[in-house]
Amino acid sequence: MLRDTNEMQGLILEGTTEDSVRLSDDISHSNTDLAPRQVRVEIKAAGVCGSDLSCVHGKYYMPTPLVPGHEAAGVVVEVGAAVTYCAVGDHVILSTFSNCGHCSDCESGNPGNCAVSMGNLTQPYSEGDQALYNFAGIGAFVQETIVSENQCIPIPAEMPLTSAALIGCGVMTGTGAVFNRANLQIGDTCVVIGAGGVGLNVIQAAKLCGASQIIAVDRIPEKEAFATDFGATDFILADEGVDVIQEVIKMTGRGVDHAFEVVGSTKLLADCLTMTRPGGNICAVGVPDLTAEVTYGFQQLHQNKNLMGIRAGGARPRKDFPMLADLYMKGKLKLDELVSNTAGLDGLQGAFDAIKEGKEARTVLLPNG
Ligand SMILES: [Zn+2]
Ligand SMILES: [Zn+2]
Repeated sequence: MLRDTNEMQGLILEGTTEDSVRLSDDISHSNTDLAPRQVRVEIKAAGVCGSDLSCVHGKYYMPTPLVPGHEAAGVVVEVGAAVTYCAVGDHVILSTFSNCGHCSDCESGNPGNCAVSMGNLTQPYSEGDQALYNFAGIGAFVQETIVSENQCIPIPAEMPLTSAALIGCGVMTGTGAVFNRANLQIGDTCVVIGAGGVGLNVIQAAKLCGASQIIAVDRIPEKEAFATDFGATDFILADEGVDVIQEVIKMTGRGVDHAFEVVGSTKLLADCLTMTRPGGNICAVGVPDLTAEVTYGFQQLHQNKNLMGIRAGGARPRKDFPMLADLYMKGKLKLDELVSNTAGLDGLQGAFDAIKEGKEARTVLLPNG
C-alpha cells in the first residue's frame, strides 16, 4: 500500500541527550520519486540496539537533526525502474550498507569496506523545510524509508518481522564476528565479554561452529541463565574483586583461542589480549566512543595475537542475512528469545532504560503499530 499522504510518524534526534529525541507526525521523504535502483519499504519492526543509545549520546559524532534507528525489517511497497533484487510485497531485512555493489571491495566480498557504505551522509528525510540525516544508512525509527536495493534482503514471508529485524544488526554483528572474522573452528575455546543482545549471538554462533568451551562474562547475574540457554559452557560473574583474566586462564590453561569484547570498553579489550593464548584472536565487537584510544602491553600483541576491528560482523548481507534467516526457520538459531519487548515509536526511552539496566535482551519498536 502506498501512503495516502507524504507525512509520516517518526523520531527525530536534535542533540546529544536522550531527552533530545522527539516524536514527529510530520516527517516526509526529501525526494519521493525513486531513483532507478531505490526501494520504498514500510518499516514493520525496528530493534533498539546499544548503537542507537550511543548515537543519541553523540558517540558516533553524527550531524543532527537525524532520524535514529538502523536495525529493521519491513515490506517493500514500491521499487525503482531498474530494481531486480526484490519486488513489491517482499518481506525484507534492511542492511546498513548502502554499498555500490561493483567496486573492488564489493567484488571481493567486503561490502562493509565499500567507500559508499563507509560514512556516507545523506538527508533522505525532512520535516517542513528542515532536512534530516539518517543514522547508519537507514534511519529506521520512522514509518517508511527509501533505500538502495542493495540494502533490501528478501526473507521468507512466514518469518516474524520482529525477529527478522534483529538480523539487520545485533544478530549479524554477533554471529558474523564468529563466522566471518574469527573463523572459529570446531574444538576451539572462546570467551565472550558481555552477554547482552549481541553477546548472546556470539555465543550461539560459537556453539554452531562447535566450540568446545564458551565462557560468558557479565556483571549482571541474571545473564547466566540467558548465556547458558544460548550455549555458554561457563559463566563468570564480573563482580568486584573477581579477576576475570586469571579465571579465564585458569579455566583454559594458556588462554582462549578467541576473545570477543562485546561491551565496547577499551579496558576490557586490552584485558582480552591477556586472556588469549599466543596466536589467538581478539575480536573488538563492541563499539566505544569512536574517538576512544586503546592502551595495551605490546608484549601481549607480540605473541602472534590478532587484534581485529570488526564492523557489523564483517557482513555480506546478501549472503549472510538469508543464511541466518534459514538457520532460524530450521530451528538452529534463536531469535524470538532475543525479543524481550515490543512498543510503539514512543517506547524508545523505555527501551533505552532497559539497555542501561542490562537485564533484557531487546526492545523492538513497531512504527506502524
Ligand atoms: Zn562498493
Ligand atoms: Zn546496531
